[in-house]
Amino acid sequence: MEFIESRGNDGQQQKKVTFSQAILSPMCSFGGIYVPEQLPELDTDFLQKHLNSDYKTLASAILTHLDVDIADEEIQAALDLYDKFDDPKNPVPVVKVRDDLYVSELYHGPTRAFKDMALQPFGQILSSIAQNNNHNYLILAATSGDTGPAALETFKNKKNVQVACLYPDGGTSDVQRLQMVTESADNLKVIGIHGNFDDAQTALKNLLASDKFKATLKQKNIDLSAANSVNFGRIIFQILYHIHSYLELVRQGAINLGDSVYLNVPSGNFGNALGGYYAMKMGLPVEKIMISSNANNVLTELINEGRYDLSSKSVIPTASPAMDILKSSNVERILYDLLGAERTKELMTQLDTENKYQLTEQELTLLQETFVADYCSDEEGKQFIKECFEQGYLMDPHTATCLKTEATKKEKELVTIVYSTAEWTKFSPTIANALTGEIDTHDLDALKSISKTAQIKIPDMIAELFDKPITHSTIVEKEAIEEEIIRFL
Ligand SMILES: *Cc1c(COP(=O)(O)O)cnc(C)c1O
Repeated sequence: MEFIESRGNDGQQQKKVTFSQAILSPMCSFGGIYVPEQLPELDTDFLQKHLNSDYKTLASAILTHLDVDIADEEIQAALDLYDKFDDPKNPVPVVKVRDDLYVSELYHGPTRAFKDMALQPFGQILSSIAQNNNHNYLILAATSGDTGPAALETFKNKKNVQVACLYPDGGTSDVQRLQMVTESADNLKVIGIHGNFDDAQTALKNLLASDKFKATLKQKNIDLSAANSVNFGRIIFQILYHIHSYLELVRQGAINLGDSVYLNVPSGNFGNALGGYYAMKMGLPVEKIMISSNANNVLTELINEGRYDLSSKSVIPTASPAMDILKSSNVERILYDLLGAERTKELMTQLDTENKYQLTEQELTLLQETFVADYCSDEEGKQFIKECFEQGYLMDPHTATCLKTEATKKEKELVTIVYSTAEWTKFSPTIANALTGEIDTHDLDALKSISKTAQIKIPDMIAELFDKPITHSTIVEKEAIEEEIIRFL
């Protein structure tokens, strides 16, 4: 598989790159991102053949089909990280909630959120390419809560890689903060900043673009990279679980091989949904992809009205903070796929300069052939959490947004796969509030309450966090981030 640029080629950049090139130097002409030039087909024979394959066997067969320039044993080493999940045989359980609604649980990894699905193997692959090339990398990560812990977890003690992770002090949950500031490996630096997630993200983008910063790193023989969600090294691992979840439905007798299903994805930066889209393009029988959002409903407006308009919007903090995003980066890959590079460049330039763009009627129709969308308020979300719990299933506030779209946008009597992106332990105050009405200011109180109400144990890796020593206590002003990172290096 080779990669081309979403906004076309400027005559300077290489026209096509390999997978490893796309991972290591993701910068494209005109500020675009890499997209696969072509995707292989996975026909019914392939699905039939892997009907009873375990996750890693299926994953490695799909990756072989995708034909990336990574040695088999390195892919194997990356996939072996799924052995750290709760059930190594089945890292992604698919659980029945109703006859026509199954939940694919993507949060059984070390940090209890779906970021592990991609960052675990991605970290392994990046580190092995760095070692093979004898390069050293500084990986920057800015996080609103889930990416940071997952990035630190995957890169800790990896050779040739150091990580600097920026988080907004006071802007994450207790559990998320503790997951970061208690990490103790020498190659990790966690920095809290006075500011919000946008400030952290802007600081990261400025550093990535700073020639002075890069020159300082070069003197130390270090290259700069980022673990952000547009990196195709993350996307590729997000195609796999959609195919696994479908086969799991066949195994459980919920559908017959070949039946169409709905995929319902709680979306922010659109990486998860994009993985589903690519799986569908490769041949997975999908009726529609449902895009579920919170009050930050840019994606709902785009898919229902063809308008992407940030001009009068600012981020609204919600109970599903990992989806509090206005610039949803991976949408660009869908635009490229449906409309081509020239039009994508035009639309993305408009978004940069005018803060909005509008699709034509025809373009909107094309988008709606695949996607439907709706958004869910925090109050509605809590209602869904409560109702679902009463029917025997506990879900987190991100996953709960899917139930709104399910209620309003399902046209055919087909089975839906809802993707669950976080365990209840990561957003416990909202869930405790939904279940009992209590208002907890600390995660620990909420965790204990839910544990009691739902009769479930707090997983050890979460319970232990509250007793671990704090190893990172740096909290700085935005202006001091660069200096702090250089001191660490
Ligand atoms: C990152 C994240 C999302 C959004 O996923 P995208 O791939 O960015 O759309 C949703 N829920 C949780 C819990 C997340 O951590």
